[in-house]
Amino acid sequence: MEKKNKISVIKDALIGSVNVSEEVLQERLDACNGCEYNSANVKVKNLKTKVKDSLYLGKPHCTICSCIIDAKVTQAEEYCAKYDKGEVPLWNALQITTNKTVDLNIVNLTPKAGNLVLDEGNYVLDFGTINVDTLEEVVLPTMTGKPFIKKMLNVDLQFLVVNEVYPIQINAVEATCGCTTPEWEKKDNTTYKLDVGLILDVAGVDRFRKNINIRYYQKNINGSFILGTNNKPLMKAVQLALRGNIKR
Ligand code: SF4
Repeated sequence: MEKKNKISVIKDALIGSVNVSEEVLQERLDACNGCEYNSANVKVKNLKTKVKDSLYLGKPHCTICSCIIDAKVTQAEEYCAKYDKGEVPLWNALQITTNKTVDLNIVNLTPKAGNLVLDEGNYVLDFGTINVDTLEEVVLPTMTGKPFIKKMLNVDLQFLVVNEVYPIQINAVEATCGCTTPEWEKKDNTTYKLDVGLILDVAGVDRFRKNINIRYYQKNINGSFILGTNNKPLMKAVQLALRGNIKR
C-alpha cells in the first residue's frame, strides 16, 4: 500500500482544493502563525529561508518542511512538520489517502489523540510521548470490593475506513490485546466507522504498540466480490496500530 505522494498533496493544495473543515483550518493556521519555525517569525534567516522567501514571493512557509503554510494547512493528509524533527507536533494529520483506488483510506475523527501516519504499509496513530502525570486515574473493581485506583491511558477513538471508489465489506476487526476494544459499523457500501476503546495500564511501560487487524472483502463496482485464485471472495487485511511512549 502506498500513501498519496507529497507532490499530489502539494498539487491539490496549490490548486486551492481544501479537504479540512473551516474550524480545523483556523486551528492549524493559528498554530503556524505562532510557531517559531514559521518563516515570518524567524528573525535571523539562513540562505535556504531567504531563497524560499523569494521563491514564494514572501508568503510565509514552514522552515522545517519548506511548504507554504496557507497551502499546507488545507490538506487533511498534512501534519505539523515538528513531528519529523521528533518534537511534539502542533497539529496532526487527519487522513491517510492511498494511491491506489483499491486500497483503503483511513480518516481519524479524533485528531487531537495523535498523528495518523502510514508506516511500512501499516496505518499508525502515533500518540507521541505521553506524560504519565497527564493520565487520568481509573477506578478498578477488585474481588475484595475495595476499589483499586490506577493511572491509566483511557481513550476513545473513532475512525472511518473508506474506499472512495469500490464497495468493501468488512469481515472482522480484531485487536491483538485485550486492552484494545474495536467495534465497527457499516455506514454505506464504501464506508465503515470504527470505534476503538483503549485502556492501558502504563505501570512499567515505556512504549506501547497495540495492533488492530482489519479484514475485508473488496468488491467490483457492480457490487460483486472480487475473487481470488481459488475462485473464492478475495479477503484483504490491513493493520491499524496505536503506538506511543510513556514518560514519567
Ligand atoms: S507546520 Fe508545524 S513546524 Fe511548521 S510552521 Fe506550522 S506549526 Fe510550525
